[in-house]
Amino acid sequence: MSTYHPLSEAEAIEIARTIEGVFEPGAKLVSREIGDGNLNLVFHISDPAAGRSIILKQALPYAKVVGESWPLTLDRARIESEALILEGQLAPGLVPNVYLYDKDLALTIMEDLSDHVIMRQGLMNSGRYPLFAEHISTFLAQTLFFTSDLGHNQQEKKLRTSGFINPELCKITEDLIFDHPYTDADTNSFDPAIRDEAEALWNDGALHLEVALLREKFLTHSQALLHGDLHTGSIFITPESTKVIDPEFAYYGPMGFDIGAVIANLLLNFASREGWDKTAAEREEYEAYLLQTVKDVLEKFEAKFLALWNEQGVDRLAGSAPGYKENYMQRLLQDTIGFAGCKMVRRIVGLAHVADIDKIQDAAVRERAQRLALRIGKTLIASNRSFTSVNQLIDAVQTAN
Ligand code: ADP
Ligand code: MG
Ligand code: MG
Ligand code: MG
Repeated sequence: MSTYHPLSEAEAIEIARTIEGVFEPGAKLVSREIGDGNLNLVFHISDPAAGRSIILKQALPYAKVVGESWPLTLDRARIESEALILEGQLAPGLVPNVYLYDKDLALTIMEDLSDHVIMRQGLMNSGRYPLFAEHISTFLAQTLFFTSDLGHNQQEKKLRTSGFINPELCKITEDLIFDHPYTDADTNSFDPAIRDEAEALWNDGALHLEVALLREKFLTHSQALLHGDLHTGSIFITPESTKVIDPEFAYYGPMGFDIGAVIANLLLNFASREGWDKTAAEREEYEAYLLQTVKDVLEKFEAKFLALWNEQGVDRLAGSAPGYKENYMQRLLQDTIGFAGCKMVRRIVGLAHVADIDKIQDAAVRERAQRLALRIGKTLIASNRSFTSVNQLIDAVQTAN
């Protein structure tokens, strides 16, 4: 198409015109740059008269959140488009359609999902999404099972991992999730009101051991192709539909990291409810809704994953060794709990926060939400190797509240 440069709005419009079957020739197109993420440009190109639109997402050669001093590979656009296409095959209807990937421009052109809302915002507005647990558990079970050694030829899997070596994006996770929150790092950013909590994290040896063990899994356990950044800002939602976006962190890692991301972000919203619900009764109801969703996601995931294993497993030994499945699912739940805890802690004291908590206006309420999120996060990390059931997780969250 052309050599890499960040596109202007006019260029984005001209490229959008070339996608077949979207816009009429000569249509009057409008562009808006709508990227609210940390890393990339996102152009919304529309023909308002005809009610048609499309999204162009372009990687920048640096992290937008920090600036040009933090260079970042453009290859992540390839990883994102390839992961989206694969996820669309494994979990039909649960990701946007990809129309085109252009390597030179690090550009992915995809379906516009503006009729959905970003789930984080939806939860902040107390939205209810009765099909979310059903949809996301399908997404997780299908994408994780069929890219693992259980659902996929083991030699093919090894070959496929080479397309998803993602060292630079993995390093962001390794630093920002597993390292910096536990030391007095320059990248950390936290409310001065909770400095005591941050310092406690830096000095908690028992917690450091658990985080080191979870980090080791993230570094070494190539279990399945992960989305890698499955927070509620990467999920578009309506009461009827769920669409996962933004898999630029995709790599072969431990499955619990993706499942834990979903759980962590539901629980971060749980910790924020005092800031969003008008009455104690509404808060209680919404908290119960969130906890039920956590439970549903985990239970539905387990049922679907096991059904796939029983019906479509390709690994004879893993399928028949007595107790192996139970052991595997137990470890997967424990990883999920541990990674969920890590993902909560980093959102309070690390570089990137969540709007659920940061956008709470009242400083005292915000401080309570931050402390609650840390209490839950630390509990999950501390108990990740001892919990054996979803109910234990739910009880621990209720006790922390
Ligand atoms: P980043 O990798 O920079 O976080 P995202 O893929 O998360 O980028 O997109 C950033 C924002 O752009 C999203 O929060 C959303 O508002 C918008 N966006 C991204 N993809 C789409 C899409 N397919 N349809 C509509 N809006 C989108
Ligand atoms: Mg994003
Ligand atoms: Mg204080
Ligand atoms: Mg992203």
